[in-house]
Amino acid sequence: MRRKALSAKAPLIPLLGMLLLFLAVPISAAAADPIAVDGRENGDKLTGQQETWHDPGNSQSLANVVELYEGGSFGPLPGAGSTGLKKGAFWSRFALHNTTAAPLSLDIEYVDHQLIELAAFQRSRGTAGDYEHLLTLSMREPFDHRPVSHNRFIVPVELAPGETREFMFKFSSDEAGYVFPSMRIWTPDNLRSSHTVETASIAFLFGGFFLMSIFSLVGGIATGSRTYYAYSIYALSKITVWATILGYTHQYLIRDNFEWRYMSISGAVTILCGLVFARIFLQTRRFTPKLDRVVLLMMANASLLLIGALLSIKVLALITITLALLLYPVMPVVGLVRWRQGSREAIVFALAWSLLMIGLVVQAFRDLGYVEHNFINYYWPPFASFTEMLTIMAAIGIKVRRLRQEKQVAENQYRKHLERSKAELQALVWARTRELEAAKRQAEMEARTDPLTGIRNRRSFLADSRLHLKLAQRQRQTVSLLMFDIDHFKSINDTHGHCMGDEALRSFSETILGQIRETDIFGRLGGEEFGLLITEDRQNARLTAERLRDYIAKIRLNTGEDILQFTSSIGIACGAPGCTIETLLTHADRALYEAKSCGRNKVADYREEVTEQ
Ligand code: GH3
Ligand code: MG
Ligand code: MG
Repeated sequence: MRRKALSAKAPLIPLLGMLLLFLAVPISAAAADPIAVDGRENGDKLTGQQETWHDPGNSQSLANVVELYEGGSFGPLPGAGSTGLKKGAFWSRFALHNTTAAPLSLDIEYVDHQLIELAAFQRSRGTAGDYEHLLTLSMREPFDHRPVSHNRFIVPVELAPGETREFMFKFSSDEAGYVFPSMRIWTPDNLRSSHTVETASIAFLFGGFFLMSIFSLVGGIATGSRTYYAYSIYALSKITVWATILGYTHQYLIRDNFEWRYMSISGAVTILCGLVFARIFLQTRRFTPKLDRVVLLMMANASLLLIGALLSIKVLALITITLALLLYPVMPVVGLVRWRQGSREAIVFALAWSLLMIGLVVQAFRDLGYVEHNFINYYWPPFASFTEMLTIMAAIGIKVRRLRQEKQVAENQYRKHLERSKAELQALVWARTRELEAAKRQAEMEARTDPLTGIRNRRSFLADSRLHLKLAQRQRQTVSLLMFDIDHFKSINDTHGHCMGDEALRSFSETILGQIRETDIFGRLGGEEFGLLITEDRQNARLTAERLRDYIAKIRLNTGEDILQFTSSIGIACGAPGCTIETLLTHADRALYEAKSCGRNKVADYREEVTEQ
């Protein structure tokens, strides 16, 4: 499948040519004729590129070709090792000369894995006989058909002591393909040991792919992340594609019915898997919607390639593989864009994908005959593919690390936010509690206080007086209640207005407050009536009452027109320890009534002392 798109890579050639010159490790192309062999061949010797002939129609018979050769139609290969993309068949003629005195068995190895058919003919020089058919190796044939079990075509040849044997090889690659006419010459033992090393290396490669796939699968199961699953499948597809392209699928798995299109099918599946993985890994749908459309187009194209390969529609396969390879550079671009968006791992992905592309370009150079075939450029694509997978694994690691760091940062921010909210809430609760406490205190104070004068109201006066009486009882003290009633208060309201009446009530309270002790209980009983509970006996209470009556009489209020004065009558009730406030009030009220009766602005005393109950 790759061979058909190689022409599409031609514009890249001048750009990368310089870079890839070092890959063209030169191998002697001008082989002697005949090539001397001595039983020590280890693959260094090649069958040469001097005598080749292209049969575009793949229609010439052996006899015709021999005639053409003898007529001088054969010439050197124009490219470096490969014929490049050409239709039909190629013929190559070479001769081997056994320089030893013993019979020699040699293996001639075709250097690439993608040749459809190889037919070998031979004759001994000097016998002047015709070329006889040695063997035909074909990809379409069951693998057991091959005399040497190898993933590439091996032609075993026998040489008698001192014999020179001529060979005519025909390479067929169907409609379009490339051919490497320079074949390696080995002794069977050397080939076997070289093949063992090579197979071991490839097994290591496949083992690596397999491990990556398994680890990733475990990662997917553990985390539920689609990235791991996609990578796992991608790694498996790499094993499939390289095993198929390098010939191992034919050698070990599908020995009897291997078909050329399996290479294209596995290639298409791998491209598709790579694109699906890249799309998930780079999250193109979310972050680069426009480029995501290109990726989707690439996936659709890869699907068509798969269909073309499955149904052996060569035109479809040719167009789609060309498009697929032309669009390959889009992926590193997407990686760069995602990197610019802040995704660190995307640049590593771009690098990985570029490695893969370089691998494909290197292969294209070799296939097209721009550089000589050698071990490095032969194995570059699978190893680039392997490096790509390793690099992607590193990118996944970076991504996982980045996501964990981001999660950590988010968690820290969330925790800080939570702590801040908690502190704010606590402050709010405290403030609200303080407000409520203040409001409660205020409400309690208001419930105890007379709003006009600011002194105790009746309820509070009674409550405090009860407490005071209990204390006095414990200390065996005498208490006295003074009950005040402002004289002719109604006439103050009537003459000077209600406001002036209020003012009189306030100055009355202030005057009394200014004259009493802190421990005395003073309160408004209602209207213009006030009570004062003091810890004094009858005599002292009377003195206090007189003194206070005097102070009240001295109050002067400026009404704006004249000066307002008023007086208060005072009734006194004296109680022994343990008396109740209710009794004291009743008695004081009676005394007050007496004071009023006596002409007001008087102090009257309830004679009977209230006794303990
Ligand atoms: P007496 O000398 O017999 O005590 O007569 P008096 O006018 O003081 O008593 P009376 O009980 O007839 O009138 C009390 C008046 O006090 C009636 C009421 O309108 C007035 N008064 C009660 N509470 C307030 C108040 O908070 N502010 C004002 N401005 N007047 C009040
Ligand atoms: Mg009154
Ligand atoms: Mg009054």
